Amino acid sequence: MRPADRSATHEKRHAQESVGRRRMKTPPGPLPLASRTGLGYDSHRFGPGGPLILGGVSIPADEHLVGHSDGDAVAHALTDAILGAAGAGDIGEMFPDTDPANRHRDSMLMLRAAVERLASLGWRVAQADITVIAERPRILPHRRAMIERLSAVIGVDGDALSLKGKTNEGMGWIGRGEGIACLAVATLVPRPLVDDQPDAHSGHGG
Ligand code: MG
Repeated sequence: MRPADRSATHEKRHAQESVGRRRMKTPPGPLPLASRTGLGYDSHRFGPGGPLILGGVSIPADEHLVGHSDGDAVAHALTDAILGAAGAGDIGEMFPDTDPANRHRDSMLMLRAAVERLASLGWRVAQADITVIAERPRILPHRRAMIERLSAVIGVDGDALSLKGKTNEGMGWIGRGEGIACLAVATLVPRPLVDDQPDAHSGHGG
């Protein structure tokens, strides 16, 4: 191909790409946010007597996590992550520890309430990732059970919820085995609107 032909081809392609870019750069209005992400953190100290409730799973142990509710740090971190992503406050606002009704409350019910609040705001959980930081118990043997319980409550497939455990390499209060910390990240996407349901106009002949 002669240089002049090559140049013409290049300009033609460039013009086509420019048209494509111009179309993409002129949306009809403000772009809706496709997703939102929130971060949650929680920690609870160990107290004598089991069982230990973590991620909605009852783990046989001779200690438990001390808290106003059942002390489930995994559930609390995940709840705060999804509330945070929606800009809907935090678990302490929804369930104040000054309210006697929240004493020994099942944290799965709190998580469920947070998901229902999300739904009322037009969001659903798309994906979450959780890291438990603790010297004990070992997380791996209970991971599958926690994922099944948590994913059912927040309404995602099991493969959309990740959970893993880490030790703190013996450092600090976690390393001394005084308690458990947990970090959670959750991503929300808009709930399907009526217009996104299967075509309501089909079969009516326009
Ligand atoms: Mg807590």
